Amino acid sequence: MLTNIIEQTKIDHFSQWLRDAQNVVIVSHVSPDGDAIGSSMGLWHFLRDANKRADVIVPNAFPDFLKWMPKSEHILTYDRNKDIADRLIAEADLICCLDFNAIRRIDAMADAILEADANKILIDHHLYPEPFCGIIISHPEISSTSELVFRTICQLGHSDKITKECAECIYTGMMTDTGGFTYNSNNREIYLIIGELLSKGIDKDAIYRKVFNTYSESRLRLMGHVLTTMQVFPSHHAALITLTKREQSGFNYIRGDSEGFVNIPLTIKGVVLSCFLREDTEKPMIKISLRSVGNFPCNKLAAEFFNGGGHLNASGGEFYGTLAEARRVFLQALDAYKPLLNETER
Ligand code: 5GP
Ligand code: MN
Repeated sequence: MLTNIIEQTKIDHFSQWLRDAQNVVIVSHVSPDGDAIGSSMGLWHFLRDANKRADVIVPNAFPDFLKWMPKSEHILTYDRNKDIADRLIAEADLICCLDFNAIRRIDAMADAILEADANKILIDHHLYPEPFCGIIISHPEISSTSELVFRTICQLGHSDKITKECAECIYTGMMTDTGGFTYNSNNREIYLIIGELLSKGIDKDAIYRKVFNTYSESRLRLMGHVLTTMQVFPSHHAALITLTKREQSGFNYIRGDSEGFVNIPLTIKGVVLSCFLREDTEKPMIKISLRSVGNFPCNKLAAEFFNGGGHLNASGGEFYGTLAEARRVFLQALDAYKPLLNETER
């Protein structure tokens, strides 16, 4: 049914590691999103059902709109449970690194993971994976790590062991990393997989509502405010939205409240590139999020101007300086990319 895109030698190697493993640790990136949590919990359910001890550890808290996921209350956050997490990592015989390509993406956990004696496997869809794992399953052409976890389980020959709970987690990651199947989602096999997940009993419409339609009133009002102050650059086919710390406190901002804002300017006719600059409340920096449509490489712009990276149509970075300075850098980037922006087909 599905094309076996993962090299069989890697599957065989992983299968052998799995057979021998008793204590598995699954880790994902800082500020975990739907794909980080979905892929991790999907794999967790599969391993638990296979009678392995498994623990999911992420660097810090994940958004409330993912907390309905079955058994997600067992997820450990490293910043609050360092001692337990360090012990689990040191005792693990297998560590699965999901949805990140560079060791610094797991923040303070990096040293513990690098020092651990366990076998390590990377399953990810970001470009240019660093070689910190013995097995690297890296497929940037696949739109989510959750899809890769599904494919891995299938190629291991265990598609029949995927439960409804496992399927719900995998579906969530596939859905969130494609904006509800509105971008990076033209691969027909995605829909074969969704068919399989539906046959496990998931309610995809309910999952959509649980993830996307659970916002607070203040979050919606903040969105209105941010859109009121949005700047559009018609001659560059671009738009910019910003959020200061002062605005955040004025709208009772909590982590995750601005999730998805960066996508909204792309609904304007003619806009190819959207940028969101947000003053961070913890570090003295500006968090940059970029989104594009068509072939415009916002990961290139992120790397060149904001020391960041990511995917062709969704990327980000960090800027150490003021919001005004970050805005100036963005305007420089717009000028530098003007020819490409004008050429990009929407
Ligand atoms: P978001 O805008 O949702 O925070 O991030 C979108 C994508 O951009 C992420 O999936 C990740 O691939 C990439 N990204 C975000 N922030 C950074 C960053 O600071 N550095 C790098 N290299 N990539 C980032
Ligand atoms: Mn992902």
